[in-house]
Amino acid sequence: MEVSEKTALLSILTNLSLVGIKTLLAVLSGSLAIKADAIHSLSDVISSGVILLGIKTSKRRISSFPYGLYKVENLVALGTSFLIFLAAYEIVKEIFLGTSRLLPENIPLAACGIGVTILITWSFSRYELKKGQETGSPSLVADARHIWTDMLSSFVILASLLGSAFGLAVDRYAALVVVLFIGRAGFGIAMDAVRVLLDASLDYESLNRIRKIVETDPRVVKINDLRARNAGRYKFVELDLNLRVKDLEKGHRVTEEIKGRIRKGLDNVDHVSIHYGPRCKMTLKVGVPLCEDRQTISEHFGEAPYFRLVSMFKEKPDGQDSILANPWVHEEKGKGIKVANWLLEQGLDIMIVRKDISEMGPGYVLGNAGVEIILVSETDANAAYSQVMAEMEKTFPDARLANDRQVQ
Ligand SMILES: [Zn+2]
Repeated sequence: MEVSEKTALLSILTNLSLVGIKTLLAVLSGSLAIKADAIHSLSDVISSGVILLGIKTSKRRISSFPYGLYKVENLVALGTSFLIFLAAYEIVKEIFLGTSRLLPENIPLAACGIGVTILITWSFSRYELKKGQETGSPSLVADARHIWTDMLSSFVILASLLGSAFGLAVDRYAALVVVLFIGRAGFGIAMDAVRVLLDASLDYESLNRIRKIVETDPRVVKINDLRARNAGRYKFVELDLNLRVKDLEKGHRVTEEIKGRIRKGLDNVDHVSIHYGPRCKMTLKVGVPLCEDRQTISEHFGEAPYFRLVSMFKEKPDGQDSILANPWVHEEKGKGIKVANWLLEQGLDIMIVRKDISEMGPGYVLGNAGVEIILVSETDANAAYSQVMAEMEKTFPDARLANDRQVQ
């Protein structure tokens, strides 16, 4: 059994002993306020029990409930909250219509008993808070805080008992205060349950943590959509991403890595589903190898002294048209491959050539990176660009060359 489960169980046992003590005191003293407090402690036992039940049922999965039975916990919690409201209603009825009367001879005993319950409550809430912070369990911390505030209602009862000892009939008023605490407990349980049953989004902090994990991956270009919800205490995450990858296999690997990191970064993640698409490029970079005159298309690839790179757009132009000197032109070995890699670094998408390179090393490098190779018979670079442009306009009617003037 985990520490958090053990502490949750201890919380139930503590509250159960409080129910026992308070019930006994209520019977002995006839105090309506103590009776109400006993009911409050009972409702706390039930809600802690629901948490433990949730931990148990969440481990089961059956084929007709493929998303798990996590919400059984929330459904039970909602039912519990109705029982709590019913108990509160019964007390209110008794406050206004009931005939219960405080037995003066047992007031000192009741006061001592309540003092004992305050001590138990105080020390247990301290202990649970410590354990909750140690294990990082938000439900334990919340439970500890809840028990702590419950102490207030016990103080109200203590005060009313002292008042009664001096002849003030304040027991009913104290009972009313306790009913408010019961109502608060019931309302909290009901709201949490309804939120989860209606698939409310994950809290802001967790969403932010997921966003950060995804954004720090250099292969993620953009997060199009991020949603996550709770079911029981478990989290379901959905992501829609643009990735800087060109093939399915690599994309799959990247998403699996991101899933792993999300599971590591957050507690109780049941399922992460990631839909991804390639980077949505607004520009296409079209390259061509040039001869010394910077105008004629070179028949060579690795040996070409210059390369011209023109950005073509699906939307508006940014005016990029540049002629770059081949940095590997004097290389002894494997210059074709080096040039191909250098062009990829420049963001090449389409390569115009006069001699087919698709069966050669550089052709493989470019092809693997998803670069399209277009074979032309033209010798003039401008004419070749116009030809490619015309082809592209068929596919992208709004395509434009970066600089129409140069290309005619
Ligand atoms: Zn409570």
